[in-house]
Amino acid sequence: MSKPALSRDEQLVSCEICLKSIPVAEANSAETEDYVAYFCGLECYDLWKRQKTREQTADDNTQNTSKQ
Ligand SMILES: [Zn+2]
Repeated sequence: MSKPALSRDEQLVSCEICLKSIPVAEANSAETEDYVAYFCGLECYDLWKRQKTREQTADDNTQNTSKQ
């Protein structure tokens, strides 16, 4: 049986947040409407998730003028 040069587990992807290269097997991933995003860890995944939510709520809650 012949093996492909790069198995799926050895394939490298870039973290969506810090752009670090990580094996796809160890990456956390999230599917969006357009693409699959990969993350080196839950911290980056969490950051990305918060960014996305903020983008969405920024459109929905334009009347909400709460300051930080
Ligand atoms: Zn990262």
